[in-house]
Amino acid sequence: MDKHTQQQFAENMLQYLNESPTAFHAVENAAKILKAQGFQELKEADAWSLHTGGRYFVVKNHSCILAFTVGEGDLAKEGFRLIGAHTDSPGLKIKPGDCIVTPDGYVKLNVEVYGGAILSTWFDRPLAVAGRVIVKQNGRLVERLIKIDKPVCIIPNLCIHFNRDCNTGGGYNKQTDILPLLSMKEEGVEKEDYLYRLLQKETGIEKDEILDYELFLYEYQKGSFMGQDEEFISASRIDNLCMVYAGLSALTEAAGSGNCKVFVAFDHEEVGSTSAPGARSGFLAYTLERICKNLGLTDDAYFQALANATSISADTAHAVHPNYSDKHDAGNRPVLGGGPVIKYSASQRYSTNAFSAAYFMEACRRAQVPCQKYVNRNDIVGGSTIGPALSSLTTIPTVDIGTPVLAMHSIREFVAAVDNFYAKEAFRAYYEGI
Ligand code: ZN
Repeated sequence: MDKHTQQQFAENMLQYLNESPTAFHAVENAAKILKAQGFQELKEADAWSLHTGGRYFVVKNHSCILAFTVGEGDLAKEGFRLIGAHTDSPGLKIKPGDCIVTPDGYVKLNVEVYGGAILSTWFDRPLAVAGRVIVKQNGRLVERLIKIDKPVCIIPNLCIHFNRDCNTGGGYNKQTDILPLLSMKEEGVEKEDYLYRLLQKETGIEKDEILDYELFLYEYQKGSFMGQDEEFISASRIDNLCMVYAGLSALTEAAGSGNCKVFVAFDHEEVGSTSAPGARSGFLAYTLERICKNLGLTDDAYFQALANATSISADTAHAVHPNYSDKHDAGNRPVLGGGPVIKYSASQRYSTNAFSAAYFMEACRRAQVPCQKYVNRNDIVGGSTIGPALSSLTTIPTVDIGTPVLAMHSIREFVAAVDNFYAKEAFRAYYEGI
C-alpha cells in the first residue's frame, strides 16, 4: 500500500483528534470535513427533500452526527450499509455551582468523573477546558462552543513521602482527590466567579450572558507520532475518534453504488448510551425511516430496506499488552499493527455473529488488509460498546470491530498508525459493497 497515502491519512487523523477535545468539537469538525466533501447539512426541524445521488448529514445535540449518501439502486432491495462509532471519551467534567475555595486559599474546580477514566493518568498534566455554553442573544438561546487551549489547571499528585503506597496502588477518592487547582484565592472574588472570570478572559463571554455550560477538561499537550519510525500514535481520545475519522473518511471516499451508505457517531457511549444523542435512542431508526419515506418508499419497503441492511459498530479493541500478556485469551491475541479486530462475546456484550463477522472479513479481503479476532478470557468481564444497542434497536445484523489499542481510557492512549488506515480501507470496501 502507498506509504505516502497512509502517512497523510495518519497525519489528518491526528489533527482531527487534537482539534476535537469534546464530543461537541468532534461533531463540529466532522461537519466541516463533510461540507468540504459536498455533503449538505439537513436540520431535523426542517422539511427534507432528498434525491438519488445526494450526500447529506444531520446533527443531534451538537454531539451526535449522522451522514449518508443515497445510492442509485432500489433502496428496499439494496438496503443500508451502516457504520457506527462514538464521539465521547472518558474524562473530567466541570460541575455546576461554585469553585471550591479552601481555608488555605487554594481555588479548585469542582469536577465529576465522566465514564471509566484511568484517573491516575490525569494527575500532574497541564489541563485545558472545552465544551459549550448556552447564551441568550436577541431573546433566543444560542450555543457557543468553547475551547480554552491553554494550560489553566492541574491535579497535583500527593508526594510519595506522604503516600508510600502510591506505587502499589491505593486508589483515589473521586470526590476529594481529583479536584484540579485553578488559582489562588483573591480578596473580593466570589466562589462562583473564578470559572466565569476565566471564560470571560478567554472567550469574551460575560457571566450575565451565560445561562448554563457543559465544560470538560482535556490534556493541553497534543497527541503525537512516536516510536523508532514514528509508527505509533500517542494521543488523547483515540477511543473513539480514530474510528470516527476512519468511518467519515471511508464515507467521503467510497464510490457510489446501489445501497444507501450511512455513518453515525453517537455521544454518551462511555456512560451507557441512554440519551437522545446516544446509541440507545430512537434517533438512528427514525432517521433511517425518514430517509426511506422522503425518497418515496412505502412502509413495507422501509422494512425491506432494514432487512437488507448490514452494520459495523466501530470502537477500539484491546491489543495484547507487552507487560500483561496473560490478560488475553490464549487463542485470540490481537497485536498493534495487525489490522482491525473483530470482537466476539457469547453473552452479547459485542454484537458480532458468524454472518456479520463474515461480511467484515470479506471487506478486509477486498481491501487487502489483515484483520484479527478478540474474545475475553472467561474470567474477565471486559467492556461493551454501541453494537448491542445499535443492532437491538434497528434489528440490523452488526459486527463489533475496532483498531487494537493499549492504555484504553488513559488520558493518553496508544495505537499503531497503520491500523486506522487498514480500518478505513476495510470500511470503504464494505460501503462499496460485494
Ligand atoms: Zn470506545
